[in-house]
Amino acid sequence: MKNEKELMRLCFPGDEARLPWLSLLLHAYAVIDNGVAEAVKVEEKKKKARLACAKGCSACCSTHKDIPVYPLELVGLYWFVVEKTLPPVREALKGQLLKHEKGAPCPFLINNACSVHLLRPVACRQFNVFSKPCAENEDPFYTRRKDVLIPIENYTNQAFSIMLPFYGITDEIAKARAIKNRLIHTQARILQECNWKELAIRMDNFDFTRNQHLR
Ligand code: SF4
Ligand code: SF4
Repeated sequence: MKNEKELMRLCFPGDEARLPWLSLLLHAYAVIDNGVAEAVKVEEKKKKARLACAKGCSACCSTHKDIPVYPLELVGLYWFVVEKTLPPVREALKGQLLKHEKGAPCPFLINNACSVHLLRPVACRQFNVFSKPCAENEDPFYTRRKDVLIPIENYTNQAFSIMLPFYGITDEIAKARAIKNRLIHTQARILQECNWKELAIRMDNFDFTRNQHLR
């Protein structure tokens, strides 16, 4: 497993200086991505099959109705959508968030692409499928589970451990206990069940041309 310096991770220096939680989230996502890359390498060899996920392939985003998202991830999504999303995606996304009803497919999918790709949740990062792309409405977890990537637990645990200071847990013993008790998992919300209208309203309160909040 790579240490923090060896990891390739997204950097938003100005925002990270202002928003201390952001570095935790970006670091954790880098660990998750690294774990996925490692698992893909191992499973491609074992299964003798190539990863099917690719840019533009997005049936999974419409099919899944219960994607878990954790509190720190929600804060990250709010920040990214409000402060970093630009036209024309910004308008399209705002429209989808406004009309999102609980249980409908993920509102972040715009023109078959994830509009929050850089800040997409752990669950989306880890859901990968081998052999062939998913058919419309197919959930390969049920139709061909052997083709679904199994995330490497050590990476997931390390990523969640990095996020723990956001929840007020900083000492190593308490962190180990929290990971063992799956504390972050107990905080999960379902992405499709969230009220995203609130986020659409917050988009209006940010002037992205001047990079500042209006009130
Ligand atoms: S999980 Fe299925 S639909 Fe989603 S990107 Fe991978 S192959 Fe495509
Ligand atoms: S957040 Fe992005 S990757 Fe995840 S389901 Fe929604 S559109 Fe797909």
